[in-house]
Amino acid sequence: MEINRSAFSHNLRRVRELAPAAQVMAVIKANGYGHGMQLAAQGLEQADEFAVTSVQDANALRAMGMTKSLTLLSATFSVSDVTGFAEKNIRPVIYDYDQLGLLKELPANADLNVWLKLDTGMGRLGFSAQELPTIRARLDALPGISQVSLMTHLANADQPESPVNQLQFDALNEALEAAKRNDQTYQQLSVLNSAGIVGFAEQAADTVRPGLMLYGISPQQGVSAHALGLKPVMSFKSHVISVRSLPSGSRIGYGGTYTLDGDSRIAYVACGYGDGYPRHAPSGTTVLVNGFLVPLVGRVSMDIIAVDIGELPVQVGDVVTLWGEDNPVEEVAAAAGTIAYELTCGITERVSRVIRDE
Ligand SMILES: *Cc1c(COP(=O)(O)O)cnc(C)c1O
Repeated sequence: MEINRSAFSHNLRRVRELAPAAQVMAVIKANGYGHGMQLAAQGLEQADEFAVTSVQDANALRAMGMTKSLTLLSATFSVSDVTGFAEKNIRPVIYDYDQLGLLKELPANADLNVWLKLDTGMGRLGFSAQELPTIRARLDALPGISQVSLMTHLANADQPESPVNQLQFDALNEALEAAKRNDQTYQQLSVLNSAGIVGFAEQAADTVRPGLMLYGISPQQGVSAHALGLKPVMSFKSHVISVRSLPSGSRIGYGGTYTLDGDSRIAYVACGYGDGYPRHAPSGTTVLVNGFLVPLVGRVSMDIIAVDIGELPVQVGDVVTLWGEDNPVEEVAAAAGTIAYELTCGITERVSRVIRDE
């Protein structure tokens, strides 16, 4: 796994171009989408704040000297954890009655800032618009709570033409108007993830929450990262370990799911699902070998994949890019019937990490 650390700051600048007035909360959960959380935090040091999903991650970031505001999007925490949050500049997202019970135990001087999560149609975490005024009143009655911000999440932002987006914006606006009538103001409002920033920049509110696009991956179906001015941070690379000339009719790999329909040359690459290459990638999935885009053939094994190189000048030792620069992870993911998030998060322990800055 090659990490082009300088691509992080390039992608962050793209976010700022799209949403110039908003604070940028860089989402580095899931080990920075598999890129390495600490690397992501370093590469994105110009972000205004960061978001993770566990107290452990927050503590690890503090241990490396990162002092910016941290949001816990969906973490489990204890009373003693939460009592220390203000001092550590950590803001939890509150989305459940259980958490409210826990916040009651906070000391009066806890000075905790929180986000309230409003479900405007995602159908995941959060309180409904009906519940929100009461929940807010309950928070306001707790002496340990200082500022309350409001967050919601879009379910269909990767399809900007989906009418669901407008329904969610409408639900949000109604909730905000109701809040105003109740004299409940929110410190900050945050709505957009990467797909939202690309599709609905005019709704950027106070704080945007990009994840995917900071890693140089397009959040929008059918739009390339290149077209959005994003640079991939991760390149997943290996090399050719064998080249064979095989006659027409040869069956390739487990189950013989692919048969050569002419004489050809097959290159075997040291990579498989044991490294995090998707086992369900079908024959035809694009692999970049020595600068040539060639098709995967046959089933993905644990340690080996096969590609049809025909007459191309390919030899043992040649560099192979499974995804990354010049072989977009979005396309590999689409071929394998999944999304880029799952691929970058799925690279396994045994794959070494190399950092470059260019
Ligand atoms: C993961 C996450 C994000 C970032 O989403 P991307 O699609 O990666 O930009 C933003 N907000 C919340 C609540 C999330 O869980």
